[in-house]
Amino acid sequence: TAPSKPPTACNIKVVVRIRPANEREQENEKFDNVVKFIDNSTLIFDPKEDEQPFFFHGVQQKSRDLLKKTKKDITFHFDRVFNNASTNLQVFDSSTKSLIDTLMEGCNCSVFAYGATGSGKTYTMIGNSRNPGITYLTMKELFQRKEDLNAEREFELMLTYIEVYNELVKDLLNPGAPLNLREDEKYGVVIRGVKGHKITNPDELFNLLEIGNKRRTQHPTDANAESSRSHALLQVYIQMTFKNTREIRRAKLSMIDLAGSERGSATGFVGARFKEGANINKSLLALGNCINSLADGQRHVPYRDSKLTRLLKDSLGGNCHTIMIANVSPASMSFDDTYNTLKYATRAKKI
Ligand code: ADP
Ligand code: MG
Repeated sequence: TAPSKPPTACNIKVVVRIRPANEREQENEKFDNVVKFIDNSTLIFDPKEDEQPFFFHGVQQKSRDLLKKTKKDITFHFDRVFNNASTNLQVFDSSTKSLIDTLMEGCNCSVFAYGATGSGKTYTMIGNSRNPGITYLTMKELFQRKEDLNAEREFELMLTYIEVYNELVKDLLNPGAPLNLREDEKYGVVIRGVKGHKITNPDELFNLLEIGNKRRTQHPTDANAESSRSHALLQVYIQMTFKNTREIRRAKLSMIDLAGSERGSATGFVGARFKEGANINKSLLALGNCINSLADGQRHVPYRDSKLTRLLKDSLGGNCHTIMIANVSPASMSFDDTYNTLKYATRAKKI
């Protein structure tokens, strides 16, 4: 008999996406490119060779400014690096597409978009109607697979779209009071009272995501109107019944557009907003701690420390497959955020 597949410890794939520099960044006189794309799996942060030689009376000087900090020039390796020319379709092809096979086997999968506000998380996950994001593309692939397996399996697909904001769980498709979490025999941790939506094609999904996204908690008065301190979580519940044996297989796909990873202090929270920042950090911090525990191979993983990690308890580690998409801006103005994101992503790679 064929040996059964050993449980793989390394089920996380970490990819980095460098978005194009926008006009505002390029027009800034201090603009500099701090992320250099080397190849499909390598980038250099704060590269040295970009320093222009400086001549004085025809003689090349050692440094234009002796007080200038030396460049960090750090090489990072990831499972995949996407440069500013990459499309959502390319990101999908080399990241979440592979999850469909895993789901068909009955294993849970999760996808995270991590990064500072403005780094491209929502563009990657949701995109727009001309460039649909990987959530839509993944669902399209899932529907295709459902068609392909139609003779063999009956499918039931149900989805929920919620946000975790200020450690409160809200249904983005059915607004109302905050919801509580509970343990479910079939599916693990579930949200009590959340409305499940049955969809029959991926275009319905796109509409639902657009409606839900408009309901995400945002603060348009901020300097950065796009800022978002909420985590948006789309979960797809898949039940497959094999037509001849009546065997039932279940799997869950979680796709998460995380809150901005920048530090609260950097975005100038005050008063009530500071609490908000602190709570957002709580879920992101807890996620980081879970990732650290999994990376270190510890038996205790502190899933219970936040709403987000409780919700993802059965979708991180173990037999689950996880893809982290770390989004970064290449511009020098985002130097710290980009550096922090690359370090976080490197840590996640060790799981
Ligand atoms: P986040 O969700 O991380 O705060 P967004 O996804 O909203 O960031 O991206 C910020 C801005 O940059 C948006 O205007 C978005 O359209 C644009 N953008 C992000 N990534 C890309 C990309 N890969 N190509 C083109 N524009 C992008
Ligand atoms: Mg966003």
